Amino acid sequence: MDRITHDRDGKLLLKSLTRSELEEWVASLGEKPYRAKQLWRWLYLQRVGSFDEMSDLSRDFRERAAAVARVDVLRCTGTHRASDGTRKLTWETLDGGQIESVLIPTETRNTLCISSQLGCAINCQFCLTAKMGLRGHLSTAEIVDQVVQTRRQFEDEQRISNIVFMGMGEPLHNPENVFPATRILTDSDGLNLSHRKVTVSTSGLVPEIRRLGVETRVRLAVSLNATTDEVRDWVMPINRRYPLAELMGTLRSFPLPKGERITFEYVMLDGVNDSDDDARRIVRLTAQIPCKINLIPFNPHPGTEFRPSPRERVERFRDLLLAKNLHTTIRETRGDDRMAACGQLGKPGPRMPKRADPPQRFRSVVAEAAEGPTSTDDSTR
Ligand code: SAH
Repeated sequence: MDRITHDRDGKLLLKSLTRSELEEWVASLGEKPYRAKQLWRWLYLQRVGSFDEMSDLSRDFRERAAAVARVDVLRCTGTHRASDGTRKLTWETLDGGQIESVLIPTETRNTLCISSQLGCAINCQFCLTAKMGLRGHLSTAEIVDQVVQTRRQFEDEQRISNIVFMGMGEPLHNPENVFPATRILTDSDGLNLSHRKVTVSTSGLVPEIRRLGVETRVRLAVSLNATTDEVRDWVMPINRRYPLAELMGTLRSFPLPKGERITFEYVMLDGVNDSDDDARRIVRLTAQIPCKINLIPFNPHPGTEFRPSPRERVERFRDLLLAKNLHTTIRETRGDDRMAACGQLGKPGPRMPKRADPPQRFRSVVAEAAEGPTSTDDSTR
């Protein structure tokens, strides 16, 4: 796993550098330290896309810099607006891959959901991105550029107040590039996002969760999605490496800033993880962890073997948790009509990762959908 700081042509990616690294680079060119400050401001306050636009830098410096370094790294290949105002932005990465970000406006905030990898290696059974497999890690610059270029496009209209690492990829599988990105996003002389408004979401990579607590100050969300090892081993095979007891133990000792909570995301899968017993087990599992629970209605996609829990089930589940004093919300599905909702980013690849076999007693729950739409279409044949 590598820190990515250069493109294929050997050009330095300026947005991969933290402020102190940028200062070192400027010094290595024999320039005065204030040049670094000027550059940083052009990158993150003015958010220009090229050295040409950095008008208070000498032409000589701009030319020397442009010869060895680059400003923008992503190419925007499309923006789509869903009927609810959610915007999906697609980008071409340095390697020519396609990644996505989703801008979600609400009355009180504008959240940008960003990607950390091209595809994903974790193979969660209900997620569309998983079907791509992992094609590569994003550089810090590609992560940061999603924020910079989105702000540039929607400058006044939709100022970004919150960042969630909930797009494509598993951010804690790419910590060498994600951690510096969180430092850049929260730099007070630049994009200046509050640490409390940057959230890294993980499927549960235990060693990297510990590192996140030590090396950054951003918020943590964990995709729980099941309450027993039996079910979690199936729907999130990463659980076989880091089972529930180990995961929850790590979260119990996570260094949470005062007054902060860990968010648990819980995708509601019909007949799989949505029983009253599951709700009771959530209460037990999360005991002694300051937390909130975010129930996510499952967003179906072609070929999935899962179905969303009925709305009444989701609401009853929430009520059971609320009755135990767990702070619980239901995430409203956003951006659905543009395939920009949770777990709907990306396109299945030619070599799909292996589907995990459900435990015996769940075979009847998923079998029907697993055969695809044709199995319900018999009458038309
Ligand atoms: N890999 C990280 C970041 C992705 S966040 C993680 O797992 O946390 C994306 C969130 O959407 C996760 O909580 C995931 O469980 C959820 N999700 C995945 N597929 C989904 C789907 N089809 N419908 C609803 N939520 C989904």
